[in-house]
Amino acid sequence: MNWIAEEQKAVFQTYYRQPLVLVKGKGSFVWDEKGKKYLDFFSGLAVDNFGHCDAAIAKAVSDQMRRIVHTSNLYYTIPQIQLAQRLIKNAFPGKVFYSNSGAEANECALKLTRRWARKHNLGNEIISFESSFHGRTMGAISLTGQPKYQKGFEPLVEKMLYAKFNDLESVGSLVTEKTCAIFVEPVQGEGGVIPATKEFLQGLRDICDQENILLVFDEVQTAMGRTGNVFAYQHYGVKPDVMCLAKALGGGLPIGATIARTGVAEIFEKGDHAATFGGNAVVCRAALEVMKKLTPAFLKSVRQKGEFLKKELMRLKSKYPFITEVRGLGLMVGLVLERPGKVYVEMARENGLLINCTQEKVLRFLPPLTISTDELKKGIAVLDKVLGQRYE
Ligand SMILES: *Cc1c(COP(=O)(O)O)cnc(C)c1O
Repeated sequence: MNWIAEEQKAVFQTYYRQPLVLVKGKGSFVWDEKGKKYLDFFSGLAVDNFGHCDAAIAKAVSDQMRRIVHTSNLYYTIPQIQLAQRLIKNAFPGKVFYSNSGAEANECALKLTRRWARKHNLGNEIISFESSFHGRTMGAISLTGQPKYQKGFEPLVEKMLYAKFNDLESVGSLVTEKTCAIFVEPVQGEGGVIPATKEFLQGLRDICDQENILLVFDEVQTAMGRTGNVFAYQHYGVKPDVMCLAKALGGGLPIGATIARTGVAEIFEKGDHAATFGGNAVVCRAALEVMKKLTPAFLKSVRQKGEFLKKELMRLKSKYPFITEVRGLGLMVGLVLERPGKVYVEMARENGLLINCTQEKVLRFLPPLTISTDELKKGIAVLDKVLGQRYE
């Protein structure tokens, strides 16, 4: 069966896919239908933080599948409550709303900011950032400061203003009595793996405190250990009022979560928001396993591996003049090129390594957090080989 030809006939053609039909995964590796093995430096877009088919997650999920799977949120289930307790304990005092994706986690935050604005007599203007990414629903593309995601889908949700990332002055010039919230990724992911500076996040916190504006961190990509802390903001010592999670939270299953601090979560009243699948028992069991794995010792190993990866990439930078920068946090790392990176993604794949390129010129590495140093070395060796090929 030619599955790729079949897909073209049956599935919306909205994705730029690599020509690989993946049938199996284990740890840091996946296999295609022909039996070829690939080292995975992408982790299903920062989702498979514990590698493929983790045994503890599989066990918890299959156990829950046999107990109770789905009830709707018209009833209580225990894993959902346990997960919320655990998330709050690791983040800040507050409450959790469950959904199914990153875009939905942001939608919840958007609706919350509308209520906040009314309650505190603020306007409805929201500030987000150029080269940000917040998802693909109408609300989320409106928040996303990249015209390519909005073009042809207008009218957008009002009223979004885009400031320059890591530039407090540009934020200051947009803040007025009409502003009700600032949405920001602590490390821009899709935008090119750009970490916020400490001064920037602290400055945003100060502005929000002065003006009674909500500070929302979109940690959909950066959370769950990816940067070497459970949440990326913990590197900065700056707390948000609202935080959005998804991607790696469910150990590969779809879940979104919006955490709002005490004093903000309470502005939603009964009936204000809902999601049929939101936080069902099975995904919450999976997420509980993910949370259990994020021990201080494990997070330390992620930071060490992140440093190792960056160091090795710096070595490649000194070897190849067309590499301009190595940047990132923990195991979320970008290699900035002077030229389009697509051919390197293709050559890496042919050599058994899966990587990603974002913003055309940034090779993005998101290996499983469980990857071994040996596996990292193997991947870097492939990169070295591929970057040394003649470029056309
Ligand atoms: C991936 C991503 C989203 C969107 O998540 P979906 O689950 O695809 O809706 C939102 N924000 C950030 C920062 C992301 O990386």
